[in-house]
Amino acid sequence: MRLQIHNPATDALLGELESDTPTSILAKFDQARIAQREWAARPFPERKQIIARFKTLVMAQANKLAKTLTSEVGKPIAQSRNEIAGLLGRIDFFLAETEALLGTKTVHTEDALSEQISHGPLGVVANISAWNYPYFVGGNVFVPALLTGNAVLYKPSELSSLTGLEIQRLLHEAGVPEHAFKAVIGDGHVGSALLDLPVDGVFFTGSHGTGVKIARKAAERLIKVQLELGGKDPVYVADDADVETAAPGIADGAFYNAGQSCCSVERIYVHAAIWEPFLKLFAETVRGFRLGDPTDPQTYIGPLARRSAQVDFLAAQVADAQEKGAQVLVGGKRADHAGHYFEPTVLINVSHDMSVMKDESFGPIIGLMKVQNDEEAQALMNDTAYGLTAAVYSKSEERARKLLSSLDVGSAYWNCCDRVSPRLPWSGHRNSGIGCTLSTYGIEAFLAPKAWHLRR
Ligand code: NAD
Repeated sequence: MRLQIHNPATDALLGELESDTPTSILAKFDQARIAQREWAARPFPERKQIIARFKTLVMAQANKLAKTLTSEVGKPIAQSRNEIAGLLGRIDFFLAETEALLGTKTVHTEDALSEQISHGPLGVVANISAWNYPYFVGGNVFVPALLTGNAVLYKPSELSSLTGLEIQRLLHEAGVPEHAFKAVIGDGHVGSALLDLPVDGVFFTGSHGTGVKIARKAAERLIKVQLELGGKDPVYVADDADVETAAPGIADGAFYNAGQSCCSVERIYVHAAIWEPFLKLFAETVRGFRLGDPTDPQTYIGPLARRSAQVDFLAAQVADAQEKGAQVLVGGKRADHAGHYFEPTVLINVSHDMSVMKDESFGPIIGLMKVQNDEEAQALMNDTAYGLTAAVYSKSEERARKLLSSLDVGSAYWNCCDRVSPRLPWSGHRNSGIGCTLSTYGIEAFLAPKAWHLRR
């Protein structure tokens, strides 16, 4: 079967790729199994040097890579460049932190007894990835996986396969053995076929629905499974917040990458005392967002990567909200522009019986609710099956900490939002996932500790 890649801004056919088949995936797996042993046997400094070379190649070709990314997922070019620049910092973190976690550590000695822990790679791991930040979510997996001596079968999303092939090209050019990193091309059926093979772990980024299917499949073989899933991330703006910085900051958190980020702000609760000035500045900011050609460096809102399906989904969320009493303050419909665009949309008079306040929108659309106090905000923020991030804007760190401590989320933000750091664990609770990437935890995820009880 051939996979067609379309530009969501123009619908132009960018290319056709041959999808992998169960037979070709098996061949890649068998070769990866052999390559992994050789790769893991190399001294760490050699692997480190190769990944550092990969970073240099990414830097040198950043413009070309950004253009490819923009053409296939519609990400505005300035944001594609930001993503690639952000990958470099993440690689630096992994290069600096991995070595200390490898090797054998003696943790106890007593007379003739020695207790040690060794840290080997898992083996051949599957990395099934999303399209919205292919360099970030892919790099969070394949960089530490390779540094720790694993081989990686990398399935980019069918919507970002050209970028997946660029990543493969640069890793090979940097010196990663051909069979230690292999892209597996195709849609969900190909991802599913990859998991029919005896991989030693699966590291997935994508939607909750697919995550559940993957976890079910992984359970049959009892392999390590890590899931980075979606969210319905809330923000609370308390009455003592600085409206001037909060409103534009939160608008950026909701609309950056046309809202197609796992940690996009998806719900906003505003204290009644500052509702009017906050709403005014927030709506003004959103009206100022420039929608258009994603290759134009001035464009802020690009087309939607999932094209018509996502435009229709957002239109249905608006219709559902309006039927139940919501008011459209800004936008509200498919943009009057060639390609698959949705107007940046702000809804008020929303409630939790509306899809827009419950289901991940993954688009340029946001609902705002007025609340009377912190307790009401806390109850509404927690009223979700997801648990990725939550933010509180307030002058008081104590007030924000109190509220954020009570929420079941992986990341807590005070006076900021939609932010990821390589030094901190990135994880979702409940329907937002299992396990974590980034930080030293996100390196240890690729290691299998072995306990040694040694009596001389
Ligand atoms: P998706 O679930 O549709 O697809 C993700 C990947 O899974 C793709 O490569 C797809 O081909 C593959 N796949 C689909 N069905 C499969 C199956 N049955 N078996 C194996 N593989 C299968 O998600 P998407 O649209 O690519 O990404 C958007 C979602 O990802 C959003 O929900 C977003 O919040 C989430 N996301 C989460 C994070 C995070 O770090 N938590 C980061 C980025 C994106």
